[in-house]
Amino acid sequence: MSLQDLIPVVNKLQDIVTSTQLADIDLPVLAVVGSQSCGKLSVLENIVGKDFLPRGTGIVTRRPLVLQLIHVNKDDPAVLEYSPLDVPATSSEVSLEEHLRRSNGSTRSHSNEPPSEWGEFLHIPNKRFYDFNDIRKEIESETLRIAGQNKGISRLPINLKIYSHKVLNLTLVDLPGLTKIPIGDQPTDIERQTRSLILEYIQKPNCIILAVSPANVDLVNSESLKLARQVDPTGKRTVGVLSKLDLMDQGTNALDILKGNVYPLKLGFIGVVNRSQQDIQDNKLLDDSLQSEQQFFANHPAYRSFASKCGTRYLSLTLNKILMNHIRERLPDIKAKLNTLMGQTEQELASYGDYPSLVDSKEGRAALLLNLMTKFANSVVNSVEGTSFDDVSIKELCGGARIYYIYNEVFGSSLAAINPTQNLSVKDIRTAIRNSLGPRPSLFVPELAFDLLVKPQIKLLEEPSRRCVELVYEELMKIVHLICNAGSNLDMTRYPKLQAKLMETVSDLLRERLGPTIKYVESMIEIQQAYINTNHPNFVGAAKAMATVVEERRRQRETELQSRMRIATLKILSKHHKETESSDDTETELPNGHIDSKDIDIDQVDDEIKPPVVHKHKRSDSSRTLHTHKSDLASHGHESYFNYFFGKDPIMHQQHLQAQAQLNPTPFKFPLPQEPTLQFNNNFINNGGNVHADVKGLSLEDRAPSQSPVSEQENGHVPHLEHGEESNLNELNEREQLECELIRRLIVSYFGIVREIVQDQVPKSIMCLLVNYIKTHIQNRLVVKLYNEKYFDELLQEDELIQMEREKCINLLKTYREASKVISDVV
Ligand code: GDP
Ligand code: MG
Repeated sequence: MSLQDLIPVVNKLQDIVTSTQLADIDLPVLAVVGSQSCGKLSVLENIVGKDFLPRGTGIVTRRPLVLQLIHVNKDDPAVLEYSPLDVPATSSEVSLEEHLRRSNGSTRSHSNEPPSEWGEFLHIPNKRFYDFNDIRKEIESETLRIAGQNKGISRLPINLKIYSHKVLNLTLVDLPGLTKIPIGDQPTDIERQTRSLILEYIQKPNCIILAVSPANVDLVNSESLKLARQVDPTGKRTVGVLSKLDLMDQGTNALDILKGNVYPLKLGFIGVVNRSQQDIQDNKLLDDSLQSEQQFFANHPAYRSFASKCGTRYLSLTLNKILMNHIRERLPDIKAKLNTLMGQTEQELASYGDYPSLVDSKEGRAALLLNLMTKFANSVVNSVEGTSFDDVSIKELCGGARIYYIYNEVFGSSLAAINPTQNLSVKDIRTAIRNSLGPRPSLFVPELAFDLLVKPQIKLLEEPSRRCVELVYEELMKIVHLICNAGSNLDMTRYPKLQAKLMETVSDLLRERLGPTIKYVESMIEIQQAYINTNHPNFVGAAKAMATVVEERRRQRETELQSRMRIATLKILSKHHKETESSDDTETELPNGHIDSKDIDIDQVDDEIKPPVVHKHKRSDSSRTLHTHKSDLASHGHESYFNYFFGKDPIMHQQHLQAQAQLNPTPFKFPLPQEPTLQFNNNFINNGGNVHADVKGLSLEDRAPSQSPVSEQENGHVPHLEHGEESNLNELNEREQLECELIRRLIVSYFGIVREIVQDQVPKSIMCLLVNYIKTHIQNRLVVKLYNEKYFDELLQEDELIQMEREKCINLLKTYREASKVISDVV
């Protein structure tokens, strides 16, 4: 087995290694070391099996030549790539290919095939040298360029790549020969320079050292062996090469050296006979020279018995063994990686599903389609129900949880955010009240006005409700989309047409349901608007609302009154204090320790209230009035039906307020015209044992003549009560204020009831009409729309990309299996 025989094996391995990014086989670098003209280049040439290496009488290696042999197959696309820079073989010169052909003994002179062997220099990228002579010339000029005209050397290597289908991927290094004495313009330390340059290459553990020594020079003078020992003391990567055995003195031989008796080397010494200068000039073919070498050893009296271990062929075999050993060392690693890769690829292949041919039969395809549709439908249902645990996300809410979130958070809070009296000004209410009265005298707080005002407010609930439906719809769309495109659900992506159709069909189904659901929800609001049920058990009712309003007003007045009284008292006291300045009892007269008489601007207080009146009632009356009122409530409470509704007696309260108004005729901040007297048109409805007031209206007597709409109408002056008309609370009389507040409260209460109903009913309706509907109909719809024999082929057409990927996997697996076989053959 020669080095050439290794080519297919190593190349196959190398292919695997590079294509799969396995650990590189990392073949050793062969470096030839030796004194000048000892035959280094000749040895390299023989090893490679070709004499395309540039050489000639004038050429001396003065820069390291790193010769990278790269195997390319003849059908490699790279072979066919010509670049404009390429140097075609000139007819007058021998092309590299021609040269190689000749050296290989091939008789074929011309062919139409593109040249499949060429050289490329690192310093001239993208230029292919097809002509051997050009390569040689380039080496010469490049050597001159860097190393100069004189005989000096340079560490800067010349990198030459030889692409061929006949070579092994090996790197060979031709190094400058060792010289002792500087010649010509050579620097005095030329020996040291050369030495360090050589050492730089051969000290790498990956370097196999071919230490060439010419047999016609005493071995003790061998510089190559000296250097090799320096970097490889155990001699495990040094091969001794004894060249020029044919040039030894007559009667001498190197048998002792070759047998290892002179210099111990683990890998031994191998004697070779290269082509002489004459042979080269005569264009002696390599094969012929190998032949004569063999003959030389076979016929030589000293080497005859040792012939099998001599010669270039044996050297090649030895190197071959070294390389194989090296490869073997790497094999377990490669093998392990290969196995991993095979497993991964098999898994990937399985993920692309069965071969489409497996479902070639109609029944098979029908079953597959049905299976896929069912899987999809189930996924949708599971996602909505939250039972698809395989892809439960912890990052964000999904599926059913999102719908729940929409109901509770989004919808709930958007409803809660609605202001029941939004867009409803006091003026609007008053206008509605007035309008609802028509020309009739206003005796009751008109229910019609409440009815009129609350209906548009209920409409406010429509928009969030509709939005809720839309959000759930969008969420369902998202779920369907997600499942359709789920990476884990490869079956879907495998059939893009089916995927699109599934999406389309379910989208259609969803869209179909969107309209009716929105319509239903809208009609729910409409229903709420259709009849205002003031009998609703949770409705506050006019009576209770009125009582609250009245009570609040009373409290407000009382606190106002009290504070004013206190201020007045203080004023009087301070006056008194001024009069009796020497007296000490003033301090104790102060009703409240917090207020110091000095802090109060007495004159200002004087402007607002009439001190004598207040003073008169200051302590005894005001507190007594309150007390009396309370006791009045207690005594009359159950006798009056007002009390029954209001919980407090409005008449007593009215009387009380009137009494106060008489005591304080000057209006306070809130004007107090004549207190209206409430009169109820009462309807009792016994509702499940609870008595509720059905307020047909609260009549209010004694309107302030100028402000009453009745009087306005009587005067023939109908005011324009429009939006934009200046209106503030002070413009309304007390009765109107009460009415407005009452209506406002009723609206708030009633709106709350409807809001609750809507909040409860809308999600239920959406579930029924949209979500559950989809859940129960999705499978059926898919079958109806897609499960049709004439669609089978189209729907189950596999994605091209997946087909390609599968193909790639199959090919990869094939390569791996082959590689696996190569490896087991090597071992
Ligand atoms: P390098 O300078 O070490 O690379 O040596 P080369 O390979 O260039 O050889 C130098 C000269 O010695 C050439 O003319 C070769 O033909 C000649 N030469 C090399 N090896 C042998 C050999 O084994 N026998 C004979 N007769 N000449 C050889
Ligand atoms: Mg040389």
